[in-house]
Amino acid sequence: MTTTAQRFTNWAGNQTCSPRAVESPASEAEVQALVRGAGQVRCVATGHSFSPVCATDGTLIRMDRMSGITGIDPVAGRVTALPGTPVGAFGSPLWDAGLALENQGDIDTQGIAGAVATATHGSGLGLQSFSATVRRMRLVTADGDVLELGEEDARLPAAQVALGMLGVITEVELQAVPAHRLQERIDHWTWDEAWGRLDAMSRAHRHYSFFWIPAEGSAALYGLSAPEGATLADSCYVKIYDEAADSVPDSDEPGRRVGRSYLIYPMTFEPNFHELEYFVPYERGAEAVAAMRELMLARLPDSIFPMEVRTVAADGSWLSHSYERASVVISVSGTPGTDYQPYLRDVDRLLGEFDARVHWGKLHYLTAEQLHARYPHAADFIALRRELDPRNVFLNDHLRELFA
Ligand SMILES: Cc1cc2nc3c(=O)[nH]c(=O)nc-3n(C[C@H](O)[C@H](O)[C@H](O)COP(=O)(O)OP(=O)(O)OC[C@H]3O[C@@H](n4cnc5c(N)ncnc54)[C@H](O)[C@@H]3O)c2cc1C
Repeated sequence: MTTTAQRFTNWAGNQTCSPRAVESPASEAEVQALVRGAGQVRCVATGHSFSPVCATDGTLIRMDRMSGITGIDPVAGRVTALPGTPVGAFGSPLWDAGLALENQGDIDTQGIAGAVATATHGSGLGLQSFSATVRRMRLVTADGDVLELGEEDARLPAAQVALGMLGVITEVELQAVPAHRLQERIDHWTWDEAWGRLDAMSRAHRHYSFFWIPAEGSAALYGLSAPEGATLADSCYVKIYDEAADSVPDSDEPGRRVGRSYLIYPMTFEPNFHELEYFVPYERGAEAVAAMRELMLARLPDSIFPMEVRTVAADGSWLSHSYERASVVISVSGTPGTDYQPYLRDVDRLLGEFDARVHWGKLHYLTAEQLHARYPHAADFIALRRELDPRNVFLNDHLRELFA
């Protein structure tokens, strides 16, 4: 992400805007003053979203000066943090308190408010997104007042995934889990092995995911490695994580690492892809993944971007991809500098047949009609949004189309 006084560009470089003001408040009181005096307001944590969720020509509020863990309760297993706290900053302090985040995704650089606002997730049929672990949240609403939503508040499931539309998050309290180490297993399997075992492996392991590598050269794009002298083309890069037993020592061996959970998850990516990610009901996941492979082979035989396949547990957040249903998660990308929109639109059409929900932080083509058909609480969310923000302070053009 880059921001100057007048320009914001996201991490991937596919979204830019020219805010009237870019502000970095250092306290909740400063956020209140900014919101009270502003026309349109959008927040940005680290700009790792591919979709135009942070875009504004009004006031862009950065989270860089509101970062850090503010409390850990080892008995309740809870952690409280400011909105700009990077996901990776939770690891060590939680470990010292005997705790860990329940799950993490492919990177750990996002700000926690950004990760929560878009239902960022890792992989695991029994593991929910970051949003679902939120037990309390403080928000500065459109009138500049502070709203605290706790577990008993019926509005918390709306605020857990809200893309900044209900207010500026100034603090979150997350449920953590006991500290644990993970044992990694990276294997290279045929398509039939990786795809055919999707259900069995997802049920048997804490984390099962794979990248299908369609072409020579694909793996390098995502920093994935083939065994020496071998190629990954038309095979799968399979990742399995399970909790490591105490008797298994830490190890740095590539593909067989063992260590603290928060050190095992994160990968490194270059901003050389523009990603779309859809969520289909778990029961139809294997069918959808197979259809996607056929589509990729037919539409983009020369495409070198892998397809990533993960799972995520059901939750209760109204705008979550996994609201009351576990998901198989399918991610594909377009190549920057090429006209990838027709291909991604084909993907949208195909996965629409599987009742797909979207990752709000990634490219998608969801329409207002589809929003209401696929998200049972869409109308409730919009009603609450209007009540808390009658002047539409927190809506930008992208969000207005769906949520006005
Ligand atoms: C390389 C890469 C890898 C990724 N891997 C994964 C993955 O494994 N799993 C996954 O699910 N996603 C993944 N993503 C997507 C990413 O996690 C989400 O887009 C996430 O929202 C980005 O976090 P951020 O902190 O950069 O938020 P931003 O992109 O800055 O903001 C996201 C949303 O949060 C809102 N927001 C930010 N701060 C606040 C606040 N204080 N109050 C209210 N709203 C706020 C913004 O307005 C915006 O709507 C990946 C993205 C990239 C680029």
